[in-house]
Amino acid sequence: MLKKINKIKDQFISDLNKVKTIEEAEKLKKSLLGKESELSEILKSLKDSAINDKQAIGIASHELRTFIAATIDEFVARIKKEALDAKLASEKIDVSLTGTLASFGTKHPLNIVVEEITQIFTEIGFDVLNGNDVESDEYCFQKLNLPVGHPARDMQDTFYIDEETVLSTHCTHMTARVLTQMAKDENFEGNYACVAIGNVYRRDDDDATHSHQFMQLDLLCIGKKITFANLKWVLKYMSKRLFGEEVNIRLRPSLFPFTEPSVEVDVSCFKCSGKGCSICKYSGWIEILGSGIINEQVMLLNGMDPEKNTALAFGAGIERIAMLKFGISNIRNLYENNVQFLEQFKFYGE
Ligand SMILES: [Zn+2]
Repeated sequence: MLKKINKIKDQFISDLNKVKTIEEAEKLKKSLLGKESELSEILKSLKDSAINDKQAIGIASHELRTFIAATIDEFVARIKKEALDAKLASEKIDVSLTGTLASFGTKHPLNIVVEEITQIFTEIGFDVLNGNDVESDEYCFQKLNLPVGHPARDMQDTFYIDEETVLSTHCTHMTARVLTQMAKDENFEGNYACVAIGNVYRRDDDDATHSHQFMQLDLLCIGKKITFANLKWVLKYMSKRLFGEEVNIRLRPSLFPFTEPSVEVDVSCFKCSGKGCSICKYSGWIEILGSGIINEQVMLLNGMDPEKNTALAFGAGIERIAMLKFGISNIRNLYENNVQFLEQFKFYGE
């Protein structure tokens, strides 16, 4: 019986030399250690052997089983390692090769201004709303004290989709939307503040500072005791945050259909500190926006009681702020997607 065990061992060693794959090795293991194998038969017949032989045969067959299992496992591990080494060698990256430089986009100057304005006003509790690109005549004009046929509409002679619908000519339509919504809201406690930012469209002069499409920022702050002092504070706060702590503001009386009283707002020139330069046209001041206290008539048209609530508002062009802030001389630079132009803003704010 011991001879038979030795013969199985020799046969296993010679068979293993011919094995090349993991599958073949596993098959060999199964044929030698499985229930139907010769070794199993030997163990089964152990009960019929002489007592003196039993121990020797038992030990020898057990040792052979351990030997076969360990040798096959070793073989399988070696094949796996060889396969992995071959894969790693074939996928080796040559780091000495010159790479292809990935190109990164930059923030658009208009987006930089929009993000800054959003930051400036959310910090003091304002909501930030998106203006509508398409608006009804009612909200774009009528509810803002510009009835049908009003000559002030001529300044915004615009793109009508049909008689009732226009491409928004100013972001101020959001003032009408917000006032109307707040007037209907039973839970409205009389205070609300927001800035709306959106695209507006107009037939406009074709020159370096005007375009038929541009972006506007419209601010609205409703309260029970809103006065001109609040308006001055908001204007100063925004100007200093946008153009620098040292700038001052100047108010000039003006006339807008939505506000009464109305003012044009100038900031002191942040380039020359008021001494006079080409940006401020040697006046020391730069006009940035129009503002005022919302006209009582506009409050009434949107369902608000002007005795209970007052509101301040202003509207500014995002392009104008961007052009002043970054010294851009032609508004078209903002729309032409010239990569050389846009790359100048690569490191802004870092
Ligand atoms: Zn100046």
